Amino acid sequence: MDRPLGTEDGGTASDPKGPMSLLSCTGCAAKNRIRPSERGSPHCGACGKPLPWLVNATDATFDLEAKTKLPVLVDLWAPWCGPCRFVGPILEQLAAEHAGRLKVVKVNVDENPSLSARYQAHSIPTLVVLRDSQVVDRVVGAMPKPQLSARLAPHLKRA
Ligand SMILES: [Zn+2]
Repeated sequence: MDRPLGTEDGGTASDPKGPMSLLSCTGCAAKNRIRPSERGSPHCGACGKPLPWLVNATDATFDLEAKTKLPVLVDLWAPWCGPCRFVGPILEQLAAEHAGRLKVVKVNVDENPSLSARYQAHSIPTLVVLRDSQVVDRVVGAMPKPQLSARLAPHLKRA
């Protein structure tokens, strides 16, 4: 992985390069520490496979995380929400199946009121698809995986 020169402070929210996320490789199980990137998508440092790109974002880090050439699927969820627990594993599977073509960004609405307001997450789960930070699709409520995959397909083709 490219390691920029200069000081690193461990990747706090205020870090201009953005926070570190720990991504597990589906090929070799290696854990990779990855920062947001505007260009390209992360690959495993050990085996080179594209990594499932699923990160948690906050009001402070979201704009950096959403800045990518890939389509972004934002999951607005909360720990107490049953349908959100149904959708969570589906999103992990989609991130793995579409590694290199999709980024999933999870936002806890209880802890991040400004994102919750921005994406009008009155009812959760709310899933928002972004291209270049613009909303291109929106799904409110839990959806089984086949339907969600079909809904996502046209956005992935443009990747
Ligand atoms: Zn690997």
